[in-house]
Amino acid sequence: MTTMTTMATPETAELLTVRGVTKSYGAEGKSFTAVQNVDLRIAEGEFVCLLGPSGCGKSTLLRIIAGLMPATSGQVLYCGRHIAGVNPYATIVFQTFALFPWLTVEQNVTVALKARGVDLPTRHATALRLIDTVGLDGFEKAYPRELSGGMRQKVGFARAMAVEPELLCLDEPFSALDVLSAEALRGELMELWLGKKLPTRAILMVTHNIEEAVLMADRIVVMGKNPGHVVTEIPVGLRHPRARKDTAFQALVDRVYAAVAGHTPSEAEALGTAPGQPGHTRRLPPARINALSGLMERLNEEGGRSDLYRLGADLQLELDDLLPVLEAAQILGFAHVTEGDAVLTPLGKAFAEASILTRKQLVAGRILRQPTILWIFETLRQDDNQRVAKSFFLDKLRADFGDEAPRQLDLAIKWARYAELFAFDDDTDELYLEAAQE
Ligand code: ADP
Ligand code: MG
Repeated sequence: MTTMTTMATPETAELLTVRGVTKSYGAEGKSFTAVQNVDLRIAEGEFVCLLGPSGCGKSTLLRIIAGLMPATSGQVLYCGRHIAGVNPYATIVFQTFALFPWLTVEQNVTVALKARGVDLPTRHATALRLIDTVGLDGFEKAYPRELSGGMRQKVGFARAMAVEPELLCLDEPFSALDVLSAEALRGELMELWLGKKLPTRAILMVTHNIEEAVLMADRIVVMGKNPGHVVTEIPVGLRHPRARKDTAFQALVDRVYAAVAGHTPSEAEALGTAPGQPGHTRRLPPARINALSGLMERLNEEGGRSDLYRLGADLQLELDDLLPVLEAAQILGFAHVTEGDAVLTPLGKAFAEASILTRKQLVAGRILRQPTILWIFETLRQDDNQRVAKSFFLDKLRADFGDEAPRQLDLAIKWARYAELFAFDDDTDELYLEAAQE
């Protein structure tokens, strides 16, 4: 497939090099930095996973690597060379694969072959082989609307393979599938890859599923957000096929959890400065109060300490849902995170065991330390009617949070309402103090 020999590329094996890549979206002045100063290398024969919470810039990075979008600064080299525009050696499979609805399964695959200039008989034979490979034998003449989500994604894989990319980029390819289809398709991909049935030289897969990364990757690149950056890299030395129940597997999952959830920051760091003030204003995590209560109760039942992996499984929370709840627990001072474990604080224990009224008071006391909420509360207190237009807050929050401002304000209102501090009046579009009694 490739004309390059190992001798011709002594410095190897480095297929992809990402150096100091930063990407900002939006116009200057109002721009938002999605990823900052990212370094990444992928060697020939490697399967690398980019792992991190949603919003940490994984898709952004993948699009830059595939050349679908330029970086704001930094470099992307493929086999040591700059690639201008779309990287012809890379293909992305997205979370939900866009198939042509008016074409059959077979035609959806042959399109890719036709684009590569493959002759008709070969196109036909190759398409049938690929369709068979992904387990869709017998569905060649079916239309996308006749297929389940899992089957459509398989067609997407077959089409991506028809392109024979050297670098196969996968953006959460299994996350839209039901559990069984996802597992089956993972198995099929691993069989093709490990059995060297693909001409592909490396795979780069984005996921926010820790187990999936440990199951498939040779190396996991852990990313964090605000702005997106690489936290650490964790090699996965486990032999294939890997079993989720193995102690070594679970130990690694634990390690990755520890890297993703990190450590509890100091209070000043955690709280940040008030909106409009210099310094970083901490975002409120998108956590639901019910989920927080569930986490606290579970932790308390576990004797005050539990590893995050177990906790996520027990509460049936995916990483993307667990992390904001953990963050909320940390901001409130109810728990901290250390070595991949969540540890309940005495305050958190008090919350877990308290009545609903006491819980509200505990939360009220704590969220008033949160700069955004304190600032809203103080602004309302200083108003003659203790009512201020929502738009006033929104405008100020935009300076810190940009497009995230409406969501941040909604989160602040949800928490404050729970704590009976302030609320939102639909009729007048105003925020008002709950405690009318002075
Ligand atoms: P991930 O894939 O890790 O969830 P993304 O790369 O999709 O993260 O997004 C990273 C950040 O960049 C997010 O805050 C997202 O809102 C923002 N973002 C992504 N695409 C755009 C865009 N086209 N314009 C503005 N902001 C964007
Ligand atoms: Mg994404």
